[in-house]
Amino acid sequence: MNLVSEILLGAGRRAPTKVAIVTNDARQLSFGDLDRLSGQLANVLTQRYGIVSGDRVAVQWNKVPELLALHIACLRVGAVYVPLNTGYTDHEVLALLDDAAPSLFVRPTPIAHATRRADFAELEAAARDASTDFDDVPCDADTPAAILFTSGTTGRPKGAVLTHGNLAFNCRTLNDVWSFTSSDVLLHALPLFHTHGLFVGAYCALSCGASMIWMESFDADAVARRLCEATVFMGVPTHYTRLLATTALDRERTASVRLFTSGSAPMLRATHEAFTQRTGHQIVERYGMTETGMITSNRIDGALKVGSVGPALPGVDVRIDQGLVGGVEVRGPNVFAGYWNRPELRESEFTTDGWFKTGDIGSLDDEGFLEIVGRAKDVVISGGLNVYPKEVELVIDSFPDVLESAVIGLDDADFGEVVTAVVVARSGARLEVAALREFARASLASFKVPKHFICVEELPRNAMGKVQKAELRRRLSVTTLIDE
Ligand code: AMP
Repeated sequence: MNLVSEILLGAGRRAPTKVAIVTNDARQLSFGDLDRLSGQLANVLTQRYGIVSGDRVAVQWNKVPELLALHIACLRVGAVYVPLNTGYTDHEVLALLDDAAPSLFVRPTPIAHATRRADFAELEAAARDASTDFDDVPCDADTPAAILFTSGTTGRPKGAVLTHGNLAFNCRTLNDVWSFTSSDVLLHALPLFHTHGLFVGAYCALSCGASMIWMESFDADAVARRLCEATVFMGVPTHYTRLLATTALDRERTASVRLFTSGSAPMLRATHEAFTQRTGHQIVERYGMTETGMITSNRIDGALKVGSVGPALPGVDVRIDQGLVGGVEVRGPNVFAGYWNRPELRESEFTTDGWFKTGDIGSLDDEGFLEIVGRAKDVVISGGLNVYPKEVELVIDSFPDVLESAVIGLDDADFGEVVTAVVVARSGARLEVAALREFARASLASFKVPKHFICVEELPRNAMGKVQKAELRRRLSVTTLIDE
């Protein structure tokens, strides 16, 4: 048996004529269409391109619904799917190809590399004449299914090897805790090259035979207008702030939605509150990462805690490495097999008793709810004292003229690092730095009060809405500070 393809195709096989995906321009694919196309593509992959079990197939393609059929085809032939961010330049892609050494690279334009390249249109054309029947290559829980390169902003990207067991566990558990059923309709506006869009969004829907409204990219107005056709929406915090900036988002348009989830980056309390006030819904934050799939989810049964990412998912263990606030470590069937070509990282990224070190800093409350306070590498150490950015950001963000902020450490000859707040003002507001500093002083110990406040138009974010603190640190040097 092929663990994941059976999960992804099983529910659809019971209702082959049901719409699996409807695109923004009203194109429809049924579950039967997806199943047949995946069979045809599996035949093309093996017969025309000679792909065998364990081969890597890298893909850098726009978010067309047929891409899901290609993904499933790769799993059916036992290949390892390697999705690449569509925003990557050739320079970045070449480094990843060198590392993953795929047998086939599916993308529109040529690239100078030993890897064989195919255009997706070419694959689809060949698939039209291929048989829809394909005997899936057996894959068990330990068989590698995908390599996802982490979106780390420093150093060489690392390829996380995810197994069939990881992916199967992830979607079964999420379906359970989020009560997904075939009656759900997911509005899918996330990219397909990350865990969130592929292994959370698309997997949850496909594996229980739920339909998806498919948006090639996130357009806040379009999403707000189509929410009335959906029961579930999954977004990153930036999606929610952009939805709130539209006039289309209201109670009436969100009345059919039973579940809004957010993850991939921290959500501001102000966003939670504004969203609840505008729509009457609470956003359910979940926490996870490329290497582990989902780790925790807030509760959907009314026991949700704003500011927390919820308790560990059933079957997953979470602990804090030391003290009340410390490194978050995780263990369970969701944890990846290791980094591709980097066996030496096993020692540094896992504890001696086998827990994966997430690199996040957090705390668990007495009910086991996890709060993330930042990335370990983002902790600012000023004069030997640890400052957790989120604690300072929460205070700054509650200042009336502030829209959002990012707290980083900048090198300082005296303190080692100094706490620095990069601040975005609310539209139309003029930020008074002296007043903001006073405000921060009233709530924070003096070593945590930012020494520098830097006003910017917006914070640099990656495709998943994560503030790129390494990029901020690179951009800013003490000489550019404007508040002194
Ligand atoms: P990635 O591997 O690109 O999905 O990034 C994973 C990282 O995103 C985690 O290690 C966290 O730092 C961050 N993250 C994911 N979900 C959340 C969340 N709900 N709140 C805060 N940070 C999050």
